[in-house]
Amino acid sequence: MVKIIDKMPQDLTGLRFFRLTVLRKAEKRPKNSYWICRCDCGNSRIVGRPGLINNKTKSCGCLNREITKMRCTTHDMTHSNTYRNWTSMKTRCYNENANRFKHYGGRGIVVCDRWKDSFKNFLEDVGQCPRGYSLERIDNDIGYCKSNCMWIPRADQGKNKKTCVPQELAQIFKRLYYVLKVPASKIAGLFGFHVTTIYNHLNLTKNNFIGKAHD
Ligand SMILES: [Zn+2]
Repeated sequence: MVKIIDKMPQDLTGLRFFRLTVLRKAEKRPKNSYWICRCDCGNSRIVGRPGLINNKTKSCGCLNREITKMRCTTHDMTHSNTYRNWTSMKTRCYNENANRFKHYGGRGIVVCDRWKDSFKNFLEDVGQCPRGYSLERIDNDIGYCKSNCMWIPRADQGKNKKTCVPQELAQIFKRLYYVLKVPASKIAGLFGFHVTTIYNHLNLTKNNFIGKAHD
């Protein structure tokens, strides 16, 4: 047993211990040994004096619940597609032994400072990876950062479908082309489609390339 040096006043009323503020002595308990506390979250709890002065009891229990929840969330996320995309992005850019390093790190593609060491920042910027999607860069000559990345249905899935493009993919083509001004040829390359297929889904015909200015 560690002997605790108790320099606290006998009356703990009004004192604050982490999230707990001591309201008053608990009745029908040995003198000065138990205190009714109000937690920042609004709950009340009776806490023994040693728990308070040793900083053992820091809240009504809400703090531990929050910590546990946070641990679970982080743990879940490390098994997620989003996390896998984050790690493989870094591997491609920084691990010289990685299969595809020569197409990434090998030609100067890097991960922005905000993402490189923080999965949290990455998640905040791109959101969770939808099922069957992967992280793609809009401009292949620029590195990984918020303005150049988006979740896109995996290219190999697109390739299998060739000309039959799901509605959501067509929406992405439109966004890339009309909003982000990505050339149709580049979109075609990115998804493994013929450029004509892209034009078809942009509601353009060969003689009616509205967006030809940026292609
Ligand atoms: Zn609480």
